[in-house]
Amino acid sequence: MIKKSFFGTLKPRLEYAIIDVSPPDPQEIPASTSVQLFAGVALEQEKRHLLKAGDPVKAGQKLTLFENKDDYVTAPVSGTIAEMAPFYGDFGSKMTSITIDISENHEIDAHFKKIAPSPTRENAKEYLCCLPGRFPVSLFSDSEQKITTLLIMGMDTDLLTLTQQFIVKTKTPAIKSGILALKETTGIEKFVIAVPETLSQDAVSTGAIVKPVGSIYPAASPHLILNDILGKEIPAGQSFEDMGVAVVSAEAVASIGTAYDSGQIPAKKILTVIDKSGQAKMVSAVIGTPLKDIFTALNMTANHEDRIIAGGPMKGASVYTEDHPVCENTDAVMVQDRSVIPLISDNACINCGECVRACPANVPVNMLIRFLEAGQFMEGADSYDLYSCIECGLCSYVCTAKMPILQYIRLAKYELARIQKAEAENV
Ligand code: SF4
Ligand code: SF4
Repeated sequence: MIKKSFFGTLKPRLEYAIIDVSPPDPQEIPASTSVQLFAGVALEQEKRHLLKAGDPVKAGQKLTLFENKDDYVTAPVSGTIAEMAPFYGDFGSKMTSITIDISENHEIDAHFKKIAPSPTRENAKEYLCCLPGRFPVSLFSDSEQKITTLLIMGMDTDLLTLTQQFIVKTKTPAIKSGILALKETTGIEKFVIAVPETLSQDAVSTGAIVKPVGSIYPAASPHLILNDILGKEIPAGQSFEDMGVAVVSAEAVASIGTAYDSGQIPAKKILTVIDKSGQAKMVSAVIGTPLKDIFTALNMTANHEDRIIAGGPMKGASVYTEDHPVCENTDAVMVQDRSVIPLISDNACINCGECVRACPANVPVNMLIRFLEAGQFMEGADSYDLYSCIECGLCSYVCTAKMPILQYIRLAKYELARIQKAEAENV
């Protein structure tokens, strides 16, 4: 259950960054020599690969990876496939990395332009899975899907991050076009856009119902916003989809609009880059650009033992190399100096209760963490409200023993989902 009194309990209160009335244009990051893309499917040796090193590609070209599999990536540049290799994502999830060496000639693939004047569920599914903002292609996959409401996040869900607000401020016509295309292609009827109060007027012109969001973290959590919209809480263990709702970023919707309006698949991602002093800057980079190219352009350095985080300070995840690329959903990148990195320890919980007081979802975190630390994920889910957690990270932020609680929670949810999937496939 979400605490009604939560927003007054955490001191000091954490406030979201709010975008300026007239934000400057994002800094364009020069094209790199190569880009790296990730497909959420393992590089399966037994399947016949449809891509190989040396293959030429054009910008906007759909690159199907394997025979008899639908998974694809979209080339954001023209050039030559340099490598396909296994890649391990969060919690060891198996993926495939595709590297493209960029050519000097910028050639655009013509396939999407031909079908763009007539948006359909099928052509959206065929071409638009890898847009900036990463629109969930599952919404185009199932003609029986029961999603009736799309919640568009025009408010960034982490601190210091301004990306989605920037999109609302600068791309309302594209969001409006995206909404019209989505009505046609998905049949969704209700569109709600969540924005900070200061962007309410901008958001009105998208045609969506405007939902103003408070400025104190974690008011922009989709769970909390949906509780308000639906007038009831999402029961623990139920997904947004179970409630007939899908949550997407403003950038994902704007990308759909831009794709159909222009006949070209957008390839540039807007992101907030936060330097060691906490200063934020908006940049625009081609999807797949290595982070080191952004740091070079912004004159930033990440030294030995500094931390690079993909995402914001509360919910982001460390990446281990400056070669890591900008992904479709990388809304923020921050560099922390090694002298200010918060300690993470393997100390035992001292049962101080700080996490319980901070938790907006009333999870008994002090009990839950004992089971998750011991790898007893099912017990944590059954007895200690694992699935009520909205992954705000406040428990980790306040933990006296500096335990990585959010990471334990994410690992538990990942492992339980993996087990459920394996069981379903074996039935
Ligand atoms: S991350 Fe922690 S504080 Fe936030 S909802 Fe989950 S258990 Fe509660
Ligand atoms: S804040 Fe940390 S140390 Fe305190 S009860 Fe929660 S998990 Fe235990």
